[in-house]
Amino acid sequence: MNNQTQSIAGSQKKMPLHTPHPRITPQSKQRYASQVLALTGVLQTTLETGELISLFAKELAGFVEFDGIHYQLPELQIDLSVGPTTSFSCNYELIVSGEFLGELKLFRFYPFEGEELETVENLMSGLLYPLRNALLYHRAVQTALIDPLTGVKNRSTLDDAFQRELKLARRHNHDLSVILLDIDHFKQVNDQHGHLYGDQALRAVAQCVQRTIRDSDLLFRFGGEEFMILLSGTGAEGSALLAERIRREVERITPFPDGKTTLTISLGVTSLRQEDAPESLLERADAALYQAKRSGRNRVVFS
Ligand code: GH3
Ligand code: MG
Ligand code: MG
Repeated sequence: MNNQTQSIAGSQKKMPLHTPHPRITPQSKQRYASQVLALTGVLQTTLETGELISLFAKELAGFVEFDGIHYQLPELQIDLSVGPTTSFSCNYELIVSGEFLGELKLFRFYPFEGEELETVENLMSGLLYPLRNALLYHRAVQTALIDPLTGVKNRSTLDDAFQRELKLARRHNHDLSVILLDIDHFKQVNDQHGHLYGDQALRAVAQCVQRTIRDSDLLFRFGGEEFMILLSGTGAEGSALLAERIRREVERITPFPDGKTTLTISLGVTSLRQEDAPESLLERADAALYQAKRSGRNRVVFS
């Protein structure tokens, strides 16, 4: 751990911490060791990063008063907060054997003092290895669930998500819609620009769709250049409008080196009916997509 700074929010200046630490006595050394041991025992009960940070915050609160805690690791898009961010903070970069594990900040409405910081740092040393394990687990889960090329959910996660959303929609009497979309003439794209730019275009389309939908909508790579979106709580009208918005947004991206060439997509949309199973819902979306292709591409067909 290094780079401890204590800073005042609202001012640009970050002051390095020069508070002299009290001399560590054999008794305090022993006390610290048993604190860390107890903490590690608690933290080893989870591999889920959010839960780990919450547990750490709860344990730490037994030793040092603070208002909020913030943990982030941009590389894995992890950004977690517990409690408010008040005036004073102490910031730590968490590093184990040269490996960066993220940044942790503690917030309080009055400054942290020498002995408290020593306790924080000591307890933080008990967080490092459980955190490293949680991040390894996080990466493994991501690898299993996320399509590496486009960064969206992969097909293997679709069945579970579909069953779950269908059950929820039935239980709460919610709408549920499906959009199936496919890039038009993508074979030509590969032929004209090469596979690498084809890949880049695929990524650009996925990102464009992801930006256009809500966080609660689920985007999957369904096949080669085909994507599926599950829209819970959205009915016929909303899903058709969204599909049209996606079509227009994708039409605007230019993922090729010339900065000019554009892409189009075709979309098939359908909404849940009383008698639907996941298969029949998908079949209708697929038939609508086929219809969109048949009738000239670059369009939305609602079934
Ligand atoms: P349509 O408008 O009828 O959809 O025509 P299309 O050419 O897009 O359809 P088709 O299914 O014939 O071709 C899809 C192409 O997508 C074939 C394949 O080369 C390409 N493709 C699939 N997956 C990938 C990928 O991961 N990367 C790249 N670069 N191309 C891919
Ligand atoms: Mg296609
Ligand atoms: Mg296709």
